[in-house]
Amino acid sequence: MHEVSIALGMIDELTRLARENNAKKITNVKLRIGKLSGIVTDSLIFAFDAIKPEFPILASALISIEEVPLVYECRKCGKAFETDNLSFTSCPVCESYSLKLVSGEEQYIENLEVET
Ligand SMILES: [Zn+2]
Repeated sequence: MHEVSIALGMIDELTRLARENNAKKITNVKLRIGKLSGIVTDSLIFAFDAIKPEFPILASALISIEEVPLVYECRKCGKAFETDNLSFTSCPVCESYSLKLVSGEEQYIENLEVET
């Protein structure tokens, strides 16, 4: 499962952030995950919950994920639009395929609450 390696990478980063902040415990973690990242958010939460007991600093952390919609902006007419179509998207107004990705590739830790 792809999400296990992503969870492990995030746990590495979380552990580092906790040390930098002299935290004893991480209590809440908020992630932002874009639709285009290819991450299945339920699987990521499952993987995270399965792994966290091995990391005392994270053992009681609650994880929440904010899914970021896939948004493109048309280079031709400037229309910005949201879509669920991960491939071959065209502008709903002028049907151009010349699109700029506005959001949807996010994959990062947005917020962290700790106990010191
Ligand atoms: Zn357009």
